[in-house]
Amino acid sequence: MRNSSAKSGPCSVTYDVLIVGAGFTGATMARLLADAGQRVLIIDKRNHIGGNAYDYEDEQGVRVHKYGPHIFHTNSDRVFAFLSRFTEWRPYEHRVLSAVQGKLVPFPINLTTLEMLGLEHLRSPAEIGAHPANAEEQCFQRVGPELYEIFFKGYTQKMWGKHPRELDASVTARIPVRWDSRDDRYFTDKHQAMPKDGYAALFWRMLDHPNIHMALSYAYPTTPEARAWRQFPMPEKTIWTGPIDEYFGHCFGPLPYRSMRFETSLASTNACGAATVNYPDAATPWTRETQWALLAGSNDTMTPTTNEYPTAEGEPYYPIPCPEARALYKRYEALADAETNATFLGRLGRYQYINMDQAVGQAMAAFEKANPARDKHPA
Ligand code: FAD
Ligand code: UDP
Repeated sequence: MRNSSAKSGPCSVTYDVLIVGAGFTGATMARLLADAGQRVLIIDKRNHIGGNAYDYEDEQGVRVHKYGPHIFHTNSDRVFAFLSRFTEWRPYEHRVLSAVQGKLVPFPINLTTLEMLGLEHLRSPAEIGAHPANAEEQCFQRVGPELYEIFFKGYTQKMWGKHPRELDASVTARIPVRWDSRDDRYFTDKHQAMPKDGYAALFWRMLDHPNIHMALSYAYPTTPEARAWRQFPMPEKTIWTGPIDEYFGHCFGPLPYRSMRFETSLASTNACGAATVNYPDAATPWTRETQWALLAGSNDTMTPTTNEYPTAEGEPYYPIPCPEARALYKRYEALADAETNATFLGRLGRYQYINMDQAVGQAMAAFEKANPARDKHPA
C-alpha cells in the first residue's frame, strides 16, 4: 500500500467490524466507523479498492475508468462535503450525444435535439401525474411514441436484455426531457465534478486510517470450513456490500444482474467533442462509447475509447429493476432482516440501482442509525 497508515491483510488483530466490499458503500462505512474508534477489516475480492468506480492512468497518462464512465453528481451537500475530505474536485459537466438517423444530436432530448431531427412540433404527450406501469408507458407519457422509438426502445432492450414493457418505469425516468430549453447537460445536480486525482486516489485517502486494515484479492470465505482453514478473523459484526444472494448461498436461486463487457482501444478523438456518444439503435451491439481524453478535458488527437456491450453473464454490475427480480429480492431481504450480526448495504447488498452519491448517502444514514448516540461524522 502506498503511503498509507491503513494496514494490509488480515492478521492477528481482532476487529470490531468486517466490511465485505471496498466500493463507495464499504469504504464510506469503513471510514465512519474508524473515525468513531472502531477497528475495521475491509476485504475485496478484486485486486483494487474503489469497486466499480476504480480508475487508473493508461500508458499515455490518460485516466480511464475500468468499469465504464463514472460521472459524479449530487444534490446532497453533506455527501459532497464528506467526500471533499478526501479529494479536491475538477469542475465537470457531462454532455452526451446520441447517434440517430445519421446524426449526432444532444441527449437527453432538448429543443436543439428536436430541431435537428425536424421534430420540434412534438410536445409533452401526456398529463403529468399519471403513474406509468412500466418503462414503455413511462416513455409514452414523457416523450411519446416517435421519440421512444428513436432514443429509448433499442437502447433499453440492449441494455437490459428485456423489452421496456418488462422493466420498471423508474429505469427510463432517470432521463429528463427538455421541451423548452437548450440545456444539453446530462445532469442538472447542484454538485457536478470529478475527483481531481481520480477515484482511486480518493479511496486511498478515505481508507488511510490507523483503525482500518484491508485485504485485497480476498474473497469472503463463504463456508465455516473455509473460514477455519484461512484462520479468518470473524468479528461480531459484518457489513456486506456484495450480492445479497451470494451471502445466502443463492438459497432461493440466483438474482438476475446485468453485466457488461468493456472493450477499450485507441481511436481518433471525436471532432464533436462529446466524451460519450450513445447508440440507441438495436443493430449496434454496444450502448455507448466513451473517449477518455475528452472526459479529462484534453485535446489529444488519439484517445483510449471504451465501448460498453451489455451481457447476461459476468460480473454483477446492475440489479435489474423489474417485478420478478424485486419479488425474489424480497425473499432474500426477509433473511437479511433476520440476521442480527450482518448489515446489507449498497447497490448489490440491497439490490438497488443507485448512483455513487446515493451509495455514500445510504452508508452515512446506516452509520448514523446504528450509532445514534455518537456525534455525526465530521463534515
Ligand atoms: P460496488 O462498487 O459494486 O462495490 C462492491 C464491491 O464488493 C466490489 O468491489 C466487489 O468486488 C466486492 N465484493 C463482492 N462480493 C465480494 C465477496 N464475496 N468478497 C469480497 N468482496 C466482494 N454512478 C454514478 O453516480 N455516476 C455514474 O456515472 C455511474 N456510472 C456507472 C457506469 C457503470 C457501467 C456502472 C456499472 C455503474 C455506474 N454507476 C455510476 C454506479 C456506481 O458504480 C455505483 O453506485 C457504486 O459503485 C456503488 O457502490 P457499492 O460500494 O455499493 O458497490
Ligand atoms: N436510456 C435510453 N437511451 C439512452 C440513454 C438511456 O433508453 O440513450 C435508458 C436505458 O433504459 C437506460 C436508462 O435510460 O438503462 C438509464 O440511463 P442512464 O444513462 O442513467 O444509465 P447508466 O448510466 O446507469 O447506465
